[in-house]
Amino acid sequence: MSQPRIRLLALGGTIATQPGTQGMKQGLGGDDLVRMVPGLDTVADVTAETISRTGSGNLTLDAVYALAARIEALATARDVDGVVVTQGTDTLEETAFLLDLLLDVDIPVVMTAAMRNTGMVSHDGPGNVLAAARVAAAPWARANDVGVLVALLDHVHAAFDVAKTETSRIDAFRSPATGPVATLVEDRVVQLMRPVRDWKQTLRTAIGASPAARLGGAAAPVALLWLSLGEQGALIDAVLADARHLGFGGVVLGAMGGGHVPELLVERLTALSQRLPVVVASRTGAGPLLRRTYEGTGSEIALRAAGLIYAGRLPPLKARLLLDLLLRAGAGRATIAAVFDACG
Ligand code: ASP
Repeated sequence: MSQPRIRLLALGGTIATQPGTQGMKQGLGGDDLVRMVPGLDTVADVTAETISRTGSGNLTLDAVYALAARIEALATARDVDGVVVTQGTDTLEETAFLLDLLLDVDIPVVMTAAMRNTGMVSHDGPGNVLAAARVAAAPWARANDVGVLVALLDHVHAAFDVAKTETSRIDAFRSPATGPVATLVEDRVVQLMRPVRDWKQTLRTAIGASPAARLGGAAAPVALLWLSLGEQGALIDAVLADARHLGFGGVVLGAMGGGHVPELLVERLTALSQRLPVVVASRTGAGPLLRRTYEGTGSEIALRAAGLIYAGRLPPLKARLLLDLLLRAGAGRATIAAVFDACG
């Protein structure tokens, strides 16, 4: 019986590094990664493309839009049965979520990476590529609406929920609110739960299917402002004072706890939200925002009534990507609020 055809798209990152003169440097391409994995040919017929050879901090949103368009083209042409994307771990949760926002394909898309480079004992790149290929070849990943998946250290995570939670530990990737979607054991991928996907349907209704090819290059920069103890709001003042809002099309706040901000900032945030969409997300990184627990200045009840949009379960990094996409698509305030409302 013929094997599933998997295309590995390589972007760079630790998984693609090799020894330099002072430390590890970027260099390996997709074919090198395929060659590094013993037994990969028993799992799938894997071909590779090298998209870039760069650290994940250098990737741009437009590069991810172009990657999504490439994956859509592969799926439409029926050239492959699944896609594996390799990149650096630093921005993996963002790329995975942005791909999940952009893609409407009926083949599995699985991202992976490495926490340990090839110069280290027990480097995890080859094992992670093998695991990602197994997931991309697994019938359940095609049969269920699971969205973009992230496979590392034999756990499979939903793009919506996964986060890098440590700087260098091999088990850095977790889904703090939900746990993994699946786990690998022997040669099997065992599904543990079904990711919630209602939000994706709401997004599609709002902006249409397959937006990557239409909206790549139409950048609408979104400011990400992290709120912390004693914040005085100088950056909010700067955005408010500039006639063009410093070029920003919207603002995401890394707000406190269940969606609270210091009282000192409320007047200015309310003024800002009358000019731009201002989205509140929790800097805790997991769990739904509150809607009707606290009253008073700076509370979720007051801020929602003042027009600030609440991001539900989305953490600030991911809320920024969704707001950027909605702005690129020309969505108005009511549509933006409806899509974020569907996120928990
Ligand atoms: N700095 C690297 C990157 O994100 C880290 C990694 O790949 O683990 O590209």
